[in-house]
Amino acid sequence: MRTLKRGSTGNDVMEIQSLLEKMGYNPGVIDGILGLRTEQAIKQFQRNYGLTADGVIGANTRKVLQSFLQGYENYTIKSGDTLSKVAQKYHIKLALLLTANAGIDPLNLQIRQVIKVPYAFDVVDTNINYTFEIMERDIQGLKSRYPFIEVGIAGKSVLGKNLYTLKLGNGPVEVFYNGTHHALEWITSPFLMKFTENFAKAYAEGRPLHSYDLRDIWMQNTIYIMPMVNPDGVELVLQGLQRDNPYYDQLIAWNNGRMNFGEVWEANIRGVDLNHNYDASWELSKQAEPAYGVHGPGPTRFSGQYPESEPESKAVADFTRNHNFRLVLAYHSQGEVIYWTYQDKTPPEARRIGELFSRLSGYTLAETTGITSYAGYKDWFIDKYRRPGFTIEVGLGRNPLPISQFTEIYRDNEEILLAAPIQAR
Ligand SMILES: [Zn+2]
Repeated sequence: MRTLKRGSTGNDVMEIQSLLEKMGYNPGVIDGILGLRTEQAIKQFQRNYGLTADGVIGANTRKVLQSFLQGYENYTIKSGDTLSKVAQKYHIKLALLLTANAGIDPLNLQIRQVIKVPYAFDVVDTNINYTFEIMERDIQGLKSRYPFIEVGIAGKSVLGKNLYTLKLGNGPVEVFYNGTHHALEWITSPFLMKFTENFAKAYAEGRPLHSYDLRDIWMQNTIYIMPMVNPDGVELVLQGLQRDNPYYDQLIAWNNGRMNFGEVWEANIRGVDLNHNYDASWELSKQAEPAYGVHGPGPTRFSGQYPESEPESKAVADFTRNHNFRLVLAYHSQGEVIYWTYQDKTPPEARRIGELFSRLSGYTLAETTGITSYAGYKDWFIDKYRRPGFTIEVGLGRNPLPISQFTEIYRDNEEILLAAPIQAR
């Protein structure tokens, strides 16, 4: 971890700014630039926690910040403590404290016993560049607060990053949501992560989300979520090309000599477009490449050497084969549109479900054309299983969408994620 001081810039600065804001300090605009306001907020934080108030985030300050970043602290029970008193002291609901400490008998607390106390603010930030590292820590943070979330790893990316899965529910009717097949479309990762947090929080507190009975969904459904299918691509887009990348020289060549990947790169780190790498009319996707100016690995639309040639698409397909999904949602950006067909394979109920999703979100229901109708995940799912599969394109504008669209995207789509399990029954 590097030292952050006045003038530092980057995604890590942005993350600290967001944390300070959540904690009630005032770091100014969340822009990834450590300026005067952010420096003052750091100093205030340091004074409150007995640190040297120099405005610099070095080893000592980082250590204290770390516990806030992971979203909870370890609390040692003192004489006279009850869980209610601890919950009150930290301004959190007793239900959340009980959930985080599932194995503990609240009527038999022991002095010097250590319990986990979640902070009153949420884990998942939705106002920052959502890197793989941030998502990985958020997954741990959610797991600590809500141990009933089952975390799995479906495989690894080309560069060895975990392809995480999250599981909500224990019911027989399984559905699957995934995000960020395309690197520029990383806003779909915090979207699925925030949904996981909101679902888990409401479930732990025993309240509905919208009007949906989460206990009913939990009993009858299992929701699997893979929030980031393409972590290597996201890293390239958000952090830029790092010198130690094993594909350094090739990536520059594949990007037509440009060093800037942040506005153009949709593919994985080998220049394969993961959503053109599934075994559904893959040959047609391949044949169409020259017409789109695609002659090999590159930022977008290269289908790879053969279907499932990439570890990421292979992991998603394997994960699908190893389950019994009744319905899948593949989240992309942008267009505010829902694609629901694949050739003549689309099951009859897909139209009705698609129309419902369209009503819930305000998005347009549409059919894919040309190259976009081949070799995508939903195409493959419909082709193989003859069950409803949807590609949902969130937001409007040019990719990458600014994170400022998050709130609207979340509001438009949350009900789809709640209605889908019920429609799949
Ligand atoms: Zn996409």
